[in-house]
Amino acid sequence: STLPKISNEKCLTYAPGSSERKNVREEYDEQARQCPHIACVVNGKDVLTGTTMEQLIPHNHKKSICTFEALTPKLVEDAINGALKAKMSWENLPLDERAAVFLKAADLLATKYRAKINASVMHGQSKTVWQAEIDAAVETIDFWRFGAKFAKSVYQIQPTENDFGVWNRMEYRPLEGFVSAITPFNFLAIGANLPSTPVLMGNVALWKPAENSVHGAKIIYDVLTEAGLPEGVIQFLPGEGLPFAQTTLRSRDLAAVHFTGSTTVFDTLWNEVGKNLSHYKTYPRLVGETGGKNFHVVHETADVEHVVNSTIRGAFEFQGQKCSATSRMYVPKSLWPRIREGIAQKLPELKVGSPGEFDAFMGAVINRRAFDRVSGYIKRAKESPSCQVDGGAFDDSKGYFIEPTMITTTDPSYESMREEIFGPVLTVYVYEDDKFEETLELCDKSTAYALTGAVFARDRGVINHVLNKLRHTAGNIYINDKSTGSIVGQQPFGGSRKSGTNDKSGSANCYMRFCSPRSIKENF
Ligand code: GLU
Repeated sequence: STLPKISNEKCLTYAPGSSERKNVREEYDEQARQCPHIACVVNGKDVLTGTTMEQLIPHNHKKSICTFEALTPKLVEDAINGALKAKMSWENLPLDERAAVFLKAADLLATKYRAKINASVMHGQSKTVWQAEIDAAVETIDFWRFGAKFAKSVYQIQPTENDFGVWNRMEYRPLEGFVSAITPFNFLAIGANLPSTPVLMGNVALWKPAENSVHGAKIIYDVLTEAGLPEGVIQFLPGEGLPFAQTTLRSRDLAAVHFTGSTTVFDTLWNEVGKNLSHYKTYPRLVGETGGKNFHVVHETADVEHVVNSTIRGAFEFQGQKCSATSRMYVPKSLWPRIREGIAQKLPELKVGSPGEFDAFMGAVINRRAFDRVSGYIKRAKESPSCQVDGGAFDDSKGYFIEPTMITTTDPSYESMREEIFGPVLTVYVYEDDKFEETLELCDKSTAYALTGAVFARDRGVINHVLNKLRHTAGNIYINDKSTGSIVGQQPFGGSRKSGTNDKSGSANCYMRFCSPRSIKENF
């Protein structure tokens, strides 16, 4: 059978006076007046556990966008049992019928709920409307629509040879057990995608959204329910990570972990799975996308203005809180005066403020912990003899605001050249033009991560050389473009080394990880 035509959802412009701006403004104001209480949802029923948590608004941290019930280990156990029951009918549906739920959810999100979901992440994640649109609306929609196409493509991989009187074929079974989906605050699309990917393949999932993404995650959950997702197929379990991880990872029925978040947490989950191995029915699949220390490598043949604009967007959009954010840059001495001037001149023009004003380029960082961590890096750089700092102001009196900051260091292994900061801080190292080879070595060896990166050069030979030399330095590499902004169906996303298992979220590779094929030979 065929699918409806699958293509990328177009971003709306939110220009002043546009109907989409008016709609999102109204939703934003409406949500500012409400503060809903969100329950856990198990087997389609709201469950109150008696422990309440709240999701604060990063740019106005005395207020919260919602309060919610926190999961308990007992509730997680009930959710596992309920999900395994729901699986019996879900996994027997043909793929097209499962896909129809997600295709319908995509249409609902593209129309009826677009303003609502965008307004939610403007409050909850402190995203500008344009950053909200590319994430919560467009990327979620794309994940769901392309998911149908890629899941189908997996089912079509078949043996091609049959001896006379024999029919060989493959059956793409879902995994045995349930999937534990643990999702981050920074992309609601990832929150939606991590449970959806296995579920589309006929699995069931327990979904624990990040504490500071519960409001948006619940909208996603409700859209899936409205689109026809049966009860219990995804169990909605906000709350703390530890009891969720311990309970799901100690279950004999754990089939897979689908994770996006920090490298440290993924390592902990992996170790926990290792400890429990003898207890499981089957080897769980571990699929994770973790940290990054993403680079821009500039060659002396690069277009300076393009480097400046791309770097500002890559480093500072969404306050640098993308796993893919540009956080270190290598610049040749000959171009440095012009690049430095270009960036330093623009920094004060990048307005930091509340997304509700529609004139800010950046909002606040997600919470107190992030504010302390990021401002700590800035403070230490201001005191370091090897560093010079542009920007670098921060103020947490009303919200967790940090100015876009550029650190220039003479030490290529200075802490902010190596460690993930996850905030609006770019660190630059200036190299001698004739030391390009050594610079590529530095770029490859300085950090444990390998998520994204970019090379800026006009010379084709240089571009080819960099692609070869940095073969394992990034899972997503860009030529003359910023290190952020991958699009579903265009640049499958993920990294290796300490950046994850590189299963490329939203691609056929990833759908493959959530099925367990069975070979069938039949004699006639
Ligand atoms: N896919 C996003 C990008 O390319 C980043 C996702 C993430 O932060 O995990 O910018």
